[in-house]
Amino acid sequence: MASVNSVQELKNLVDPTGVYGEYVRLTRKGKRSVGLCPFHREKTPSFSVDQETGLFYCFGCHKGGDLLRFLQDVEGCSFTEALEILANRAGVTLSISAGRQAAASGAPDRKEKLRKALASAERYYRSALKAEKKGSAVRSYMEERGLGPKQEESFLLGFAPFGGGLMNHLAGEGFSPDDAAECGLVVEREQGGRAERFRNRLLFPIKDAMGRTAGFGGRAIDGQEPKYLNSPETPVFQKRDILFGLCWSKEEIRKRGQAVLVEGYMDFVAAHEAGVTNVVAGLGTALAGGQAALLARYAKEVILSYDGDPAGLAAAQRAVPILLAHSLSIRVATLPEGKDPDECIKRAGAEAYKRCVEEAVPFFRFLVEQAQAKAVLGSVEGRVAFVHSLSEYLAAVPDLSPERACASS
Ligand SMILES: [Zn+2]
Repeated sequence: MASVNSVQELKNLVDPTGVYGEYVRLTRKGKRSVGLCPFHREKTPSFSVDQETGLFYCFGCHKGGDLLRFLQDVEGCSFTEALEILANRAGVTLSISAGRQAAASGAPDRKEKLRKALASAERYYRSALKAEKKGSAVRSYMEERGLGPKQEESFLLGFAPFGGGLMNHLAGEGFSPDDAAECGLVVEREQGGRAERFRNRLLFPIKDAMGRTAGFGGRAIDGQEPKYLNSPETPVFQKRDILFGLCWSKEEIRKRGQAVLVEGYMDFVAAHEAGVTNVVAGLGTALAGGQAALLARYAKEVILSYDGDPAGLAAAQRAVPILLAHSLSIRVATLPEGKDPDECIKRAGAEAYKRCVEEAVPFFRFLVEQAQAKAVLGSVEGRVAFVHSLSEYLAAVPDLSPERACASS
């Protein structure tokens, strides 16, 4: 693969309009190409690309800059990652000096190597699942959960067998045991040596916003504990900065300006298949600020679609201040008692779930309804306590201008 030495050299290799065109439908107008801005909602095009300079500018939201700025904003990635996207596109590698010019954080080469190891593992797990015949434990589990060939292909599902093959596979592709350990694929054994982390589990690859595999979520199929096992934190997998499924849903989220947030991988798959294609899932941990920031790059509004049990309710309430702090409007979709989105779709159907999402209520109203249901508002003390509890949420809103307060209430 050819190598380039400077950012400018790299920029010269790509046609900017072609790259912009992957995100915005552009129409040529003299020296400019125009289209609907991907950064704000509009009906008439105010996003424009100068054919000669390759610079973009939006007359609506006043965002502008060069192609690398555009990629950072539209992909929600760093400068270095934007360079990587361009380099991949041009079929070249960036030399060390160009990498330095990019003021790379950490060691990009090492991260790149780990990502390649994870992609290799993903191929291994995918072919292991393909080799599983109908009637095998993993196939039976998938059938029971409504995961067919379509979901397997769409979401690149894999299977971690009982163990033994992954290390050889990785070694065959040029990865050392240390590589495997650093990206969390193997664990140190007490008696020495290393063992595969995922064994006899159905695997959901966890990808970053750009679609690069960062880790895996493994569902036990034989009653093993824990039920879900995730990759540990690694240089390329920071749970607080990744949302499951964002790479598959981000276009739709951007288009609608709205994301539906669910708790689990199965909920994500079921909702996406039900036609709620602007869905993303958390990673089994409480929503983190980084995840909210990620959502805010694509959406203005988040619909919380958590489990309809007390734990889901509590998780939704914990997520609210974090989302508010990132200036996101919030609505809450209430599911029937005790159901999660996956169950709801299987029992009541896709349309019923979609309706539930469409009818999601603004979260302040949701809080009032909760309080009413618990008869909290029946007494003066209850009302005072309720108003007091709102202060936590109000304090989280960064800008309490009347316009914003309305948008999030
Ligand atoms: Zn704009």
